[in-house]
Amino acid sequence: MKEEEFISEPRAVKDALEGMIWQFAYRGNTRTTGEPMLYCGGLSALEDAFSALGWDDPHIIEDPSLECDVEGCHRFSGPSVTWDGMYSMICTEHHSEECDGKPRPKMKETAIKRESLRDKDNVLPGDWREQVFTKNK
Ligand SMILES: [Zn+2]
Repeated sequence: MKEEEFISEPRAVKDALEGMIWQFAYRGNTRTTGEPMLYCGGLSALEDAFSALGWDDPHIIEDPSLECDVEGCHRFSGPSVTWDGMYSMICTEHHSEECDGKPRPKMKETAIKRESLRDKDNVLPGDWREQVFTKNK
């Protein structure tokens, strides 16, 4: 794409900025509610990108598919592990518990539904987020 085409296409610019933010912004959780958030951490390029998109810093993420599988935990999922026989996408704190040999806590219904969608090769369908978070609510 030529530069003038890129600049005249706001959607492409927005997608590029969001992609940069998702790749490089810091991930954390709010102290009050524990919601997942992205933040700049004082990096000026990220501050400019957040500003261009009109995002607050921190920017609260409202996508439950990115959260830890453990019931009641809203932290970003990180490592994927098999914990007591269930493949799980969990946050770093729950990963520590798994590494310490603690028993798997109750998992979210959405995690159980997601895992039921895997095929014989253990692959999720491309639309698993829609199937888990849109249908059968
Ligand atoms: Zn967790």
